[in-house]
Amino acid sequence: MKQTSPNILLVNPWIHDFAAYDVWAKPLGLLYIASILRHHGFNISYIDCLNRFHPLAPVTDPGARHGRGPYIKTEIPKPKGLEDVPRAYSRYGIPPEWFLDDLAAIPRPDLIIVTSLMTYWYPGVSETIKLIKEKYPDVLVLLGGIYATLCREHAQQNSGADRVITGPAEDIILKLAEDHTGFAVKKNFSPDDTDKWPYPAFDLQHAISYIPLLTSRGCPYVCAYCASGFLNKKRDRRSPESIITEIKYWHKNFMVKDFAFYDDALLVEGSQHIIPMLEEIIASGMDICFHTPNALHIREITGKIAALMFKAGFKTVRLGLETAAFDKRSEIDSKVTIDEFKRAVTYLLESGFDRKQLGAYILAGLPGQSIESIEKSITIVKKSGITPVPAYYTPIPHTAMWKKAVSSSRYNLVDDPVFTNNAIFPCQHDPFSWETISRLKQLCATE
Ligand code: SF4
Repeated sequence: MKQTSPNILLVNPWIHDFAAYDVWAKPLGLLYIASILRHHGFNISYIDCLNRFHPLAPVTDPGARHGRGPYIKTEIPKPKGLEDVPRAYSRYGIPPEWFLDDLAAIPRPDLIIVTSLMTYWYPGVSETIKLIKEKYPDVLVLLGGIYATLCREHAQQNSGADRVITGPAEDIILKLAEDHTGFAVKKNFSPDDTDKWPYPAFDLQHAISYIPLLTSRGCPYVCAYCASGFLNKKRDRRSPESIITEIKYWHKNFMVKDFAFYDDALLVEGSQHIIPMLEEIIASGMDICFHTPNALHIREITGKIAALMFKAGFKTVRLGLETAAFDKRSEIDSKVTIDEFKRAVTYLLESGFDRKQLGAYILAGLPGQSIESIEKSITIVKKSGITPVPAYYTPIPHTAMWKKAVSSSRYNLVDDPVFTNNAIFPCQHDPFSWETISRLKQLCATE
């Protein structure tokens, strides 16, 4: 067994897409893995291809826009089959030259771990691994993350990684690292006890403009378009105390003000989770802001929870409405009724939220969905007094809607995930024109 600590490189790859923006998007799973490995004696290097605060990037204020901001981008050729899409296609993230320089500057890795997110971003993953392999042809590259889990065979054939890992990696990473580096690990960590996990290694970033928080995993609902149940087979929650301690840690030591919840079901089982957590945050007097880029469950919003959210400093609240075609919604989910929606909005507005802070996601581009039904949903949301936020449907393998998506698409979704890009409305036989999309956006924006 090797005695000296091996070097492990972790990489967040590029995004190739028609559009991308950092809306509190960080590779949380990868940074947990980095932290677990570091906690067990490995030397960790981290390269984030999406780094907006790279030393060579134009200087921007990490605190602006509550930590959000645009990625650096470079226009690149569109993928085969999408040449006719009338929009520019780009590599989002640092230029390849910077990446190669960063690769050359780190200690030679004994193992490299790359993550992946959206399935249709895989060309960015493949390009990242290709450059890694040019620099370190003999070093084993493991690929994990969402694309790897949802499209395992495709990733095995197309990513360039030596090995593809599926599912949550926290419980297997130490064994993998041990097997591939020969370093004997003394295990000091229980994958099942999320309260005891070391905090994600955000300190490896050049700047911390916000912190994503995962206070629970999994979701008790089963929506036809969502892969949450496939990606997280079990549901578990951290204790409110451990979450508060983590928030205080980032706020005190790194002056972080903005926190984004990544939970799929943050408000579920509220009396044991969100309520004590928010009461404690309010009592602490910390001057911090919270954002929920993942939708909240409307049904769980009571007057008490809405008031606590406001007092605790929630600034961006997104509700999972998805459709206001309530008569047809049982085909896609069973999340909410019109009365529940109206009641939740009333609670939030009465608690003091500005209507601009409150948005309801409206799904657009579902198989067979008409433009009229989307317009109707937008109108209902606006009448309720909050902002409609279009969420363009992405067909995802292993979901109940996948078969219908495949049969209704004008593309071959099964063979190439690049065609599941929601920007091209893959499940509309007759794709929405850019004029239609602009009209929807305008409809959402007008008072
Ligand atoms: S869409 Fe939301 S509520 Fe539905 S299964 Fe996914 S995470 Fe749960």
